Amino acid sequence: MSKPAPAAIPIESTSPFFDKCYRYDVAERVRQTGMYSFFRVIESAQDPEVSIGGRRLIMLGSNNYLGLTNDPRVKEAAIEAIRRYGSGCAGSRFLNGTLDLHVLLEERLAEFTRQDAAVTFATGFQVNLGAISCLVGKGDTVYLDKQDHACIIDGARLSFGEVRKFRHNDPSDLARQMRQDGSRGRFIVVDGVFSMEGDIAPLPEILAAARESAAGLMVDDAHGIGVLGPTGRGTCEHFGVEEEVDLIMGTFSKSLASVGGFIAGDATIIDYIKHKARTMIFSAAPPPASVAAALETLDIIEREPERRARLWQNTLFFREGLKSLGLDTGNSQTPVVPIVVGEDAVALEMVQRLHEAGVFVNCVLSPATPPGRALIRTSLMATHTREQLARALEAIEKVGRHVGLVRAVEV
Ligand code: PMP
Repeated sequence: MSKPAPAAIPIESTSPFFDKCYRYDVAERVRQTGMYSFFRVIESAQDPEVSIGGRRLIMLGSNNYLGLTNDPRVKEAAIEAIRRYGSGCAGSRFLNGTLDLHVLLEERLAEFTRQDAAVTFATGFQVNLGAISCLVGKGDTVYLDKQDHACIIDGARLSFGEVRKFRHNDPSDLARQMRQDGSRGRFIVVDGVFSMEGDIAPLPEILAAARESAAGLMVDDAHGIGVLGPTGRGTCEHFGVEEEVDLIMGTFSKSLASVGGFIAGDATIIDYIKHKARTMIFSAAPPPASVAAALETLDIIEREPERRARLWQNTLFFREGLKSLGLDTGNSQTPVVPIVVGEDAVALEMVQRLHEAGVFVNCVLSPATPPGRALIRTSLMATHTREQLARALEAIEKVGRHVGLVRAVEV
């Protein structure tokens, strides 16, 4: 008699600890509808067109605002850094991982953001986790805009202070809450440009509220740097408040065409963060290639303002195109342009149909957006051509009609 085949391991044999994973079926239910558009596999660079499954799609879902991730000069700088320094730093900035290249980039970033000093981390997410959690101590309160990025919220949660949220882009709500607060210290953290809807924080009014309550202010300018301001220095430059904001953080993963993050401010505060932020001290330094790419990109941003001009021309053309179709682009004021859809199912269907029509856009559902406000998030690059954007608008019109979001023009 042959031996029976071993039985498949029954679910019950794993620890009940994992039951939640086996019960979780949201993603699988969406997959079964054929509308699952997450973790799409791209076979090419983050250019205005990408290859997926051998097909070309117009990329309207990338944060490569200035179109520099595939620029020959940026790639060459990264390759040269690998030749000279190798593929990694094999340790934390705090101990063995600091290269002259990190110091050079930090000096350039401090100068670029008009701050005293800067420090780099392996990612922007780690900047917010580490910096906010080490600055906000017991007895302090940190104030967050309701639509702040997830890593700001997580950084605040990791701290020993109290976390309060104010209504989105509502400085009077912030001021009111702070007037009633007897905490030892108050700290405000806002996105400069909100990442999902592309609206801008009213920094002058937020600063006025901060001054009134003697609060510190940090601006996460992940989506503003390279994009906003007369010379691309971001949201603080846009409002002329670089001198007044206490801390500016940014990431290399958008306009800076790389990966990593930084925070800049007064040298004493930055020195404190360098000795307290656990996500930097206990994590490996950003690798040489990433640092060199960001450095090269900063030079290009300063030397080639025409890139930013093209990005804005593309943004205005595309946003006006969406509006002329009767689509709701919220309060977008930047190259992040949402299409407010409402229902999750409609957003999922639109993204999938657009994929089939050759356009890559992102689906944004709760909790990244308030419930009932599902979005299609589009974002522009300096390197999109008019022809590509016109083609994308045509596809959006067709798909929008199909799902009932674009109505036929009555003659
Ligand atoms: N802040 C904001 C506003 C972001 O949008 C992001 C990334 N999407 C981050 C921080 C994190 O940056 P990184 O990708 O470098 O981790």
